[in-house]
Amino acid sequence: MPLRLDVDILQLRTRHPFIIARGGQSDYRTVRVRLTDADGFEGWGEAAPTKFYGETTETVLAALEHYRTALPADPFDLEGAERQWATMLRHNPSARAALSSALHDLVGKRLGVPLYRLWGLDPARAPRSTFTIGIDTPERMRAKIAEADEYPILKIKLGTDHDEELLRTVRDATDREIRVDANAGWSVKQAIRMLPVLEEFGVTVLEQPLVPEDLAGLARVTRHATIPVIADESCRTAADIPPLVGTVDGINIKLAKCGGLREALRMIAVARAHGLMVMVGCMIESSIGITAAAHFAPLVDLVDLDGAALLASDPFVGASISGGQVTLPDAAGLGVRPR
Ligand code: MG
Repeated sequence: MPLRLDVDILQLRTRHPFIIARGGQSDYRTVRVRLTDADGFEGWGEAAPTKFYGETTETVLAALEHYRTALPADPFDLEGAERQWATMLRHNPSARAALSSALHDLVGKRLGVPLYRLWGLDPARAPRSTFTIGIDTPERMRAKIAEADEYPILKIKLGTDHDEELLRTVRDATDREIRVDANAGWSVKQAIRMLPVLEEFGVTVLEQPLVPEDLAGLARVTRHATIPVIADESCRTAADIPPLVGTVDGINIKLAKCGGLREALRMIAVARAHGLMVMVGCMIESSIGITAAAHFAPLVDLVDLDGAALLASDPFVGASISGGQVTLPDAAGLGVRPR
């Protein structure tokens, strides 16, 4: 019997409106996929589409209808399945990532081992995760920082016309480690002007200062910077990495950009071969999507897996970032269950 694919929409709401340089909202619709085999084993995955990468909930649902016709006869054919999906309908990375995750979950469950064990990884090696404070009024940012007091590393969204004020608000409110993400919101001039400000406030990492395609600009910013510069929007898949060598210090991997867990592992290998730092990030998504990414967190340097922790309520239980510590479930496959 071939695999059965079931699809449903998850309505998610963040505790606070989640605002970044491109705007933001409180309500998100992700798509859960379930792959069931003849023996009743069921694998789960989640697609967290973003317009910036060309996807919506509707495009994911439509893409999944295409991919439905190309489910592997053998669920262990992970490599073949990812390659086939990428070839038959390009782009749609979050839809493909959901299927990839579901297939990995199913294989782990069939073998009775957690995914990290299947990959030979030590979950204790996962670095601590940041927790993101979105752009807001000084008063509300102070309240959010106080509310997030269990998290030792904060990630601050910048890319506004009052970034210095935002940083000052955060630094006055806490002495915790701060990393910043400009989400492509700066010009080269602005970025170079901000570097000493970041230094003054003790910021330790700068993510995506410029528009994705300005690699020459990124190289200039990185040359001036005293902290690591990480490419996020500039780096979707492994093929984006070689051109980034010499322009940034590291790359940020997200399943919703790269399209699958095997591609994520490939990105790590390619980045390491080029001496780059590796970060894992996420979208606003439930613990299904977060847990899939958390399983390869032992292989990276920087972790930003707060997508489910930012939710008012998460329908699932899986990997946790309580206290900033990435804790992986020890059940088979992804190890995610309903709350
Ligand atoms: Mg980012």
